[in-house]
Amino acid sequence: MRHFPIFLDLADRQIVVSGAGDCAVAKLRLLLKTEAAITVFGRDPAPVIRQWAGANRLSLVERPLDQGDADGATLLYAANDDENEDARVARIGRAAGALVNVVDDLEASQFITPAIVDRDPVTIAIGTEGAAPVLARAIKADLEERLPASLGRLARIGQTFRERAMAIRAGRGRRDFWSRFYSGEGDAALREGGDAAVLAKLETLMTDAIETRPRPGHVALIGAGPGDPDLLTVKARRLLHEADVVLHDRLAAPEILELARREAIIIETGKTGFGPSWSQDDINALIIEHARNGAQVARLKSGDPGMFGRLDEEIDALDAAGISWEIVPGITAAAAAASTTGLSLTKRGRNSSVRFITGHDVEGFAEHDWRDLARPGAGAAIYMGVRAAAFLRGRLMMHGAAPDTPVTVVENASRANQKTIATTLLALPDDLAAAGINGPAVLLYGMAARKAAKQVQLAADPIHENAGVL
Ligand code: SAH
Repeated sequence: MRHFPIFLDLADRQIVVSGAGDCAVAKLRLLLKTEAAITVFGRDPAPVIRQWAGANRLSLVERPLDQGDADGATLLYAANDDENEDARVARIGRAAGALVNVVDDLEASQFITPAIVDRDPVTIAIGTEGAAPVLARAIKADLEERLPASLGRLARIGQTFRERAMAIRAGRGRRDFWSRFYSGEGDAALREGGDAAVLAKLETLMTDAIETRPRPGHVALIGAGPGDPDLLTVKARRLLHEADVVLHDRLAAPEILELARREAIIIETGKTGFGPSWSQDDINALIIEHARNGAQVARLKSGDPGMFGRLDEEIDALDAAGISWEIVPGITAAAAAASTTGLSLTKRGRNSSVRFITGHDVEGFAEHDWRDLARPGAGAAIYMGVRAAAFLRGRLMMHGAAPDTPVTVVENASRANQKTIATTLLALPDDLAAAGINGPAVLLYGMAARKAAKQVQLAADPIHENAGVL
């Protein structure tokens, strides 16, 4: 993030705009929303600028900006539509200590002006670091449509009630109160009876909030999916947003953790297959401690929580502690891996069943029904199998598996850095080493990817995430 968004207090400050043509008009439409004193310098002003000046909304000086004109200004916009003139006034602005923006010139600007959704006092600023103004406009249009025009009015009334709302228990109680107000009930009251009805509604909601007993602690064991936030369920998203405490393992993608509230306590439990890990008892104790304190706990587990996720151990501990829990299923790594390679996990005439197996378990490399897996047409999704590759190959070939049985390896399925390798049982260990697979990977045994290819690195562009996988 090169540009950090902040909200600048412009009440009674000076803004100087150099230029009085169309380019300046576009900026002025935004600047006129502020409480700043605006002065525009430029010859041949656009008619609307003259009108604004006539209505005393800004001061107009019909000559080019010069030394001294920017003194005391907080912001200076160079909007002359003329590179040399912009550079000249930008120098004057900087020397005068103003923050300078040269319209449409990122490099020459000290700040950029975002696209704005205005529901004053709620203001949403959208920036793309100058990379995609069209995208910013699309997001703006989307938000304009979604946020009721009454939002600003509700926020203003809400503001006057903040002090009274202190009577509600801090934390969840007060948060739920405001959340009810802003997610529908306030708006409905406004439409029915205007400001008075909104204030009455706030009183009723407050009585409710004070009288209801606090929700007891609860744990949601949530499948976070393979990494792409779009592959989260709607329920996972909602619970994550509501959680007071989020516990996640190392595989949880940062974009998913972003969905938690800013005040939420976020704890990484750092359980990995081989690396340093917390003991399961430590994790259980921590979950229970937070739930006992009344927290809504989101226990995030990668993929589906019930797939190699040590789910039962956590549930047993929660039951023993008498804490309520629920499971939210997620998309397991094998499903995501198969989908991005154009494979289906089962296929009529090829494999009518598929096994989900692990390459290693508590005892080390895991033993399975190798004879059955070695049969022609057998299919398996192998988790935690990269380090066990040579072992797997040995066991399977010893039991008669064909050396050329296809294996598709998908590392970081659904993430921007996804990598896919099409190989065979015989070449598996060597190809894994050659490809430098060291992230989480699933081995799809007995499944050839639809299009053969050795290895492809996806562009790190989430919008085109699924383009050209193989
Ligand atoms: N509960 C998880 C699996 C946890 S075990 C699920 O349902 O997916 C951890 C193993 O899952 C990793 O070693 C790897 O084999 C697999 N895995 C998890 N996320 C993955 C991803 N994005 N791409 C490929 N494999 C992944």
